[in-house]
This record gives sequence, C-alpha cells and structure tokens, in this order.
Amino acid sequence: MRGLLLGRMQPVHEGHLEVIKIILKEVDEVIIGIGSAQLSHTLKDPFTAGERVMMLTKALSENDIPASKYYIIPIQDIECNSLWVAHTKMLTPPFDYVYSGNPLVQRLFIEDRYKVTAPPLFNRKIYSGTEVRRRMLEGEDWESLVPKSVVDVIKEIDGIGRIKHLSKEEVR
Ligand code: ATP
Ligand code: MG
Repeated sequence: MRGLLLGRMQPVHEGHLEVIKIILKEVDEVIIGIGSAQLSHTLKDPFTAGERVMMLTKALSENDIPASKYYIIPIQDIECNSLWVAHTKMLTPPFDYVYSGNPLVQRLFIEDRYKVTAPPLFNRKIYSGTEVRRRMLEGEDWESLVPKSVVDVIKEIDGIGRIKHLSKEEVR
C-alpha cells in the first residue's frame, strides 16, 4: 500500500518528519507531494521546489528512512480545483490513501473516492512553516524546529539572507 502526503514544505520541519514516520507505520511507501512547486522567493514561499526536494531528501536520510520507502514529487498549482486530483495523479505513483489536514485537499480526494485521513499534528504551535518563517525573519531560534540537515541546506543557499532581503521595502 502507498500513501500520499501533501505540503508546501516551506521549509521542511520536524512536524513533517514525524508525520512521515507515522505514515510509514501504516503503509509500505509514502509519496511526498511538494505543493505549490512553482512558487519561490516570496515571504510565504521562500524556497524553490528543488531546494525543498534537497531539504526533504537529506532530512529523510538523517532520520534513517531508506530511499526505497519514499518518492518526492514536486506538484505545481493549477487554476482548476476540479482537475487538480487528476493533475496530481498524473505526476505521482499510484496511491491508496491520502493524508492531509487541508479541507480543500480532503474534499477533492474524497469526491474522487479516495480514503482520506487527517494525520495527527505534533507540537503544532511551533512545528509550523509559518512559525519557522516568522522566527527566521525576526532573528529568533528557528534551527531547533527543523532537522539539522535542513539547517545546513538553508545555510548553503543563504535562505535567511533571502527572506530578510525580500522583506525590505523598495527604496525610491
Ligand atoms: P505553513 O504554515 O507554511 O502552511 P505547515 O506547517 O502547515 O506550513 P505544510 O507544508 O503546509 O506545513 O504542511 C502540510 C501538511 O504537513 C499538513 O496538512 C500536515 O499533514 C503536515 N504537517 C504540518 N505540520 C505538521 C505537524 N506539526 N505535525 C504533523 N503534521 C504536520
Ligand atoms: Mg499549511
């Protein structure tokens, strides 16, 4: 059996890792769909799909999850919600279960007769992309909310410099 987990992963944090481990107790393989793959270089979506693939690959390896257990698939947004499940299926290996806490994602898969589960949330107040990005911008401790390998990737690409630069106002 295969399960699909969807998230923008801006950036990958410990909550994502925890839920992936839970899913792998229920299914043989997990497909991780990186949503809004076309977005990057904004405060809400700072990292490219390729950067997010790198974060996830290294974080899964750091957590001793073998590459044979997962597929990482970037998925661009499309304008039509009614076609989005078909669009996602076009890009992913076949799957039996969908894991998502997002009501729109849940609804679209349910209408296509998929089994949808809302996975448990771990320490949601701090294990949240919004909180990680807020701390990055404010200069607070964000490193403890993400796997060590994700810290390394963000340093390699100067992710903090990027977020702080994007938050500036244009000088006129
Ligand atoms: P953002 O605040 O940017 O929306 P996020 O933390 O919600 O970031 P997403 O990339 O939107 O992260 O993640 C989507 C999915 O990842 C959720 O639907 C949920 O299944 C899972 N997820 C996110 N945070 C956690 C968490 N703390 N515990 C368990 N699962 C989580
Ligand atoms: Mg979210």
